[in-house]
Amino acid sequence: MYEPLSIVDPEVADAIAHETRRQHERLELIASENFVSEAVLEAAGSVFTNKYAEGYPGRRYYGGCEFVDRVETLVQERARRLFGAEHVNAQPHSGTQANVAVYMAVCKPGDTILGMSLAHGGHLTHGHPLNFSGKMYRVESYGVDPDTERIDYDELARLAERHRPRLIICGASAYPRTIDFARIGEIARAVGAVSMADIAHVAGLVAAGLHPSPFPHMDFVTTTTHKTLRGPRSGLIMCRESFAKELDRAVFPGTQGGPLVHIIAAKAVCLKQALTEEFSEYQRRIVSNAKALASALTAEGLRLVSGGTDNHLMLVDVFCRGVTGKDAELSLDKAHITVNKNAIPFDKNPPMIASGIRVGTPAITTRGMREAEMVTIGRLIAEVLAAPSDVDVQRRVRASVLELTARFPLYAARRVAAAI
Ligand SMILES: *Cc1c(COP(=O)(O)O)cnc(C)c1O
Repeated sequence: MYEPLSIVDPEVADAIAHETRRQHERLELIASENFVSEAVLEAAGSVFTNKYAEGYPGRRYYGGCEFVDRVETLVQERARRLFGAEHVNAQPHSGTQANVAVYMAVCKPGDTILGMSLAHGGHLTHGHPLNFSGKMYRVESYGVDPDTERIDYDELARLAERHRPRLIICGASAYPRTIDFARIGEIARAVGAVSMADIAHVAGLVAAGLHPSPFPHMDFVTTTTHKTLRGPRSGLIMCRESFAKELDRAVFPGTQGGPLVHIIAAKAVCLKQALTEEFSEYQRRIVSNAKALASALTAEGLRLVSGGTDNHLMLVDVFCRGVTGKDAELSLDKAHITVNKNAIPFDKNPPMIASGIRVGTPAITTRGMREAEMVTIGRLIAEVLAAPSDVDVQRRVRASVLELTARFPLYAARRVAAAI
């Protein structure tokens, strides 16, 4: 019972050691990933994992919840302060679970929802046919304009007018531009639809005032806590007070059982850190790094969807250089640069092949990298993509990546030393 992991389960201990080393030595450019603080990691690994706490602070179905109540209340208070929200539900296990609960609170099966198409940057949960959202509801989708590659708000308004959806969803996973929440809120009100912004990707930027806030334009705001917000892998829901009761019921007992209290504790820590000036400065650096990386890639002759970025990510059209997204991901991986292939709007390749890669700066900015490093990274990416099957190039770039990451250590030296 009291032996350490390395004795109890050396296989898992070894996998963790290797993963620690991988995170330390490679270049993490996946736009939805980040590195949490030691404090968040400590809370997430705490004894709160042992506790059942169905219900909400002050009204639980289990005894012994006084300390759970404390951390859950801290999440609610801090999220209200950080985002200016009226009501907060701290319990969703993930971004997907957060969206499930909102749909359940607002829609009956078969109701119409209007969301951004996955192919144009939206998320699976915004109505994809293979997702619960596409199976439970009648889905209409909007997308981007073929010329500007930015959201076509006129089309959105026309679709809303024609289909009178119960719920309009905005927010994206692969959209490099600012989203006009005020305009979408107006469109929703005009057709009597409930509105929801899913700020999973840009939550940190919103918190720091670098992306316009969805409040007070939206009825619901959902987010993950592990992307730009730099907290544990989890979710949050915020809404107008008038929807609070329905929402809380939709989370529990509607779609979840016992909350993950250790993760709620870690979310409280994440939100405390997000309320600091240091965090705002971190978010400003994410954005300036993204702009620097976008310029570097453009200077290398690569095309960026919509021509650039306003936020923390960019979509790089690699097929314009004759490389598929799939091959770009694979060859960059061999050079220890981690990205994901991504469809670009009006993609001619199927999603598993794709014409683009998605590149983001939240994780490398956490490590302390700045504009000078972005120029280097842009050059390394271009070198690999210019010869995607050249193993000598990959070996050379791998060495440069190791040199670069060694200058920006991740976590206390002891954690990394234990892994290597
Ligand atoms: C990442 C993401 C989610 C889902 O989050 P999970 O925690 O992976 O379920 C939902 N919506 C958007 C827009 C996202 O980018």
